[in-house]
Amino acid sequence: MTDPFGRTVDYLRISVTDRCNERCLYCMPEGYKGWAQRPDHLTAAELVSIATAASSLGFRKFRLTGGEPLLRPDLVSIAAGIAALPTTSSLGLSTNGTRLASAARDLGNAGVTSVNVSLDALDPDTYHRITGGRLADALAGIHAAITADFESVKLNVVLMRGVNETQLAPLVRFAAEHRTPVRFIELMPLTRTDVLSSDNFLSCEAARSLIEAELGPLLPLPEYRAGHGPARYARAQNGALVGFIGALTTPDFCASCNKLRLTSDGKLRPCLGRHGEIDLLAPLRAGQADLETLLTEAIANKPQDHTFQQDYIPSRPMTAIGG
Ligand code: SAM
Ligand code: SF4
Repeated sequence: MTDPFGRTVDYLRISVTDRCNERCLYCMPEGYKGWAQRPDHLTAAELVSIATAASSLGFRKFRLTGGEPLLRPDLVSIAAGIAALPTTSSLGLSTNGTRLASAARDLGNAGVTSVNVSLDALDPDTYHRITGGRLADALAGIHAAITADFESVKLNVVLMRGVNETQLAPLVRFAAEHRTPVRFIELMPLTRTDVLSSDNFLSCEAARSLIEAELGPLLPLPEYRAGHGPARYARAQNGALVGFIGALTTPDFCASCNKLRLTSDGKLRPCLGRHGEIDLLAPLRAGQADLETLLTEAIANKPQDHTFQQDYIPSRPMTAIGG
């Protein structure tokens, strides 16, 4: 399927829950309990039926995200249902890793092909300050993912001035030692607008300079794409693949956008950085959903680009939208 701007849309990111066992500074509003009022999350069968409709429209890439997807006890069966669809060429999982150690093998056996683990710091106190969680749990998850032989395991780092600048070069060293690409992501004002203040925002360019000051020049790899994401890659002198996701500062960032998002309460979201949504839950529960038509409508409604730099006002947290 092609959107009005000629982009092929064949990637569905599915938020399976808006709950999380961590509370990252940039993602979860303090004291957020939105999920307590929301008993209406899509069931595993509903999620797979939406993915099935997407597959019949030619979607080939799926990702399970959240919130923290590993909080869902039925995650393995959701993964198996999506992996079994005839068009699925890749099934990713985005996780904070803290519960991955015991689940990695089952998820691999169910058909998950790639795992992205958030790792914003290697210093335990900094990690705790950002996430509220324990670094050791995330590292155990990363090691389990590496030994479970997924096609790819990547690390995601959200850039925060005054919080994790000192962690960037150590993270690139860690990536080289573990042979996992590491991607640095610019803060987006998804949950809170104040993260975009000059006190908090660290651009990809500034991050690159900090890394190069410690580890030497990065060699750009303009053609390289690890997976299907919007990262631009470079090779560090220690061999690490280093990706930069400059959602705020890269010109034409949205030019190759290929995705739709499905929120855990059953809304299709054509763009992360705009509020428009199409409800699937009510028609699904009324037994009247023409899912293929609704997915086609969402593709037709994809805007050309996000509005983070203009008039975007956070309405619901990233955990609810699905990262
Ligand atoms: N809990 C999982 C995790 O942390 O990877 C999956 C969901 S999380 C919302 C998905 C990704 O979104 C993570 O890499 C996270 O760092 C990123 N993220 C969350 N809030 C963000 C923000 N305001 N700006 C940029 N990235 C953000
Ligand atoms: Fe939870 Fe992931 Fe959001 Fe952190 S980024 S609060 S781990 S959903």
